[in-house]
Amino acid sequence: MISVEEALEKVLNYVEVLEPERKPILDCLGQVLAEDVYSTIDIPPLDNSAMDGYALRAKDTRGACESSPRYLVVVGEVAAGSMPAQEVRPGTAIRIMTGAPLPEGADAVVRFEDTDEVNRKSSGGDLSHIGILCQVKKGSDVRGRGEDIAKGDLILKKGKVLRPQEIGVLASLGRSTALVIRRPVVAILATGDELIGVDQPLAPGKIHDSNNYAIAAEVSRYGGIPKILGIGRDSVQSLTKKIYEGLDADMLITSGGVSKGDYDIVKDVLAEHGEVGFWTVCMKPGKPLAFGVIKKTEGGREKKVPHLGLPGNPVSSMVTFEQFARPAILKMMGKKILAKPAIRAIIEDDVMDTDGRRLFARVSVTKRGGQYYASVTGPQGSGILTSMAKANGLAVIPENSKGVKAGDMVEVQMLDWGEEQGDVKKLPVVSIVGKSQSGKTVLMEQLIAEFKRRGYKVAALKHSRGGMEIDQPGKDSWRFAQAGSDAVLISSPDKLAFIKSVDHDLDIEEILPTVGPEFDLVLVEGFKKSKIPKIEVHRKELGDDLLCSPGELSAIVTDGSFYTDIPQIPWGDTVSVADFIEKNFLRAVSCQW
Ligand code: AMP
Ligand code: MG
Repeated sequence: MISVEEALEKVLNYVEVLEPERKPILDCLGQVLAEDVYSTIDIPPLDNSAMDGYALRAKDTRGACESSPRYLVVVGEVAAGSMPAQEVRPGTAIRIMTGAPLPEGADAVVRFEDTDEVNRKSSGGDLSHIGILCQVKKGSDVRGRGEDIAKGDLILKKGKVLRPQEIGVLASLGRSTALVIRRPVVAILATGDELIGVDQPLAPGKIHDSNNYAIAAEVSRYGGIPKILGIGRDSVQSLTKKIYEGLDADMLITSGGVSKGDYDIVKDVLAEHGEVGFWTVCMKPGKPLAFGVIKKTEGGREKKVPHLGLPGNPVSSMVTFEQFARPAILKMMGKKILAKPAIRAIIEDDVMDTDGRRLFARVSVTKRGGQYYASVTGPQGSGILTSMAKANGLAVIPENSKGVKAGDMVEVQMLDWGEEQGDVKKLPVVSIVGKSQSGKTVLMEQLIAEFKRRGYKVAALKHSRGGMEIDQPGKDSWRFAQAGSDAVLISSPDKLAFIKSVDHDLDIEEILPTVGPEFDLVLVEGFKKSKIPKIEVHRKELGDDLLCSPGELSAIVTDGSFYTDIPQIPWGDTVSVADFIEKNFLRAVSCQW
């Protein structure tokens, strides 16, 4: 049996990022940009008005107020889409609409509400003049040329996933097409003599094929183009024929026929016509899984089409799709974030039947009082597809645990969230932030000692803005680094040091993977701009404000008080801070057993 991670690595090694294609921008939604996009124009192209009002010279409004208006001669009018025909000279104004180019000579706009226009109109007054009721500064209500985008600027970088706003930006640049990584065509084949189509009446011993539909919908959801091949029968001949119909696709996904039953022949066909990757993964549901490539010759050259053979049980096929096919499709599309977005939630039921495999329990996640809760969606048999329909998450119960009890903290993969939305890393990480002198380093020290006392393995991380010198000149490790080694490791009977050269100030996300899996908690000092959970240390004497906005914080440690829902812990009460971290970030199953 191999682990879920090993299986995923093998799958990802088989698939490649596809080639780019140029197409109309509206067809590019969700695809990855394959070119850097520079602007050839300024946006806005001219200074223009941000309001409906009067374009004038700011100087001419000096001292204007309601009781003492400044009167200007109205010399013209300009609407959006046309160019001003007159210029604004001292003592004059031009009536202007939002988006219309600012006339020559004008340097500000006064909106209608701050003029006497309405009064003048209602009293049948003289519209050749206008009374200005307030003083404005130069540039007031003027949108400057190039304010949004300047000619020559890099606007969208290669690798960007195009959302509606990027499509809008492309349009504003005057681009009708974009170069994006192509969507993969995924051929889908259900196998089994018991299967009949959705439009056929049930006959004894038969069931409707649901996998083709669920899998095709999954393929579409993640950006692929599904191509349903239909139903393959449990014979080598039928399966071989069907599989070959799918070989012009970028990937083939079959369901069923991969377990130990007599008629389970997908693997035999695969062994005959391709290479078989692996068969059993340490997960539940979904243990039997086939992965490999099918070979075909195209124009005299051998082509290999990746094939993923999912188990037949409808829940197993969906759960394995999420873990393996989804990241493969995302990789082919050029996406960088492949992990399923996950949160930490308190489980509301006992889940004990793991069989030593990683269990993916179907759960319904709700958020109450700032905390996520996950409750199991009824019977968990791998044939019970409605348990999937009721679920919005998959709780991940680690293989090294005996299960979880109600009240335990678990990781939950969110089925309906976008890949960018996950808000937890697997390894619990908490950052202590605060202004200088707030006492964050002392709190770090005390927390490290407190967590050690509680039996946790702690890693502490500090950002050293001013650089650091840890390698002593003359030592062998220093000489290796001088010789140009990208990383130097020094190991001794009681310490291991890993020194890696980097070319930029790393983000926390880039640093965390170097922290070994054996740690229970990473305590970070600083990194206030990162997305990791943060606790701010605040002292009244340093001001009433916080360094971070309250919405970004998990808790505040303070000797004062704030009017907010965010938990507040008295300054100096390290035990309560540790309790808070333990309860919210550490009550993970692996620590319970
Ligand atoms: P298999 O992996 O082929 O042994 O199938 C395991 C179970 O999943 C059997 O009970 C099948 O009837 C069921 N099954 C297989 N393929 C499908 C499908 N396309 N739609 C619905 N159920 C299926
Ligand atoms: Mg079957």
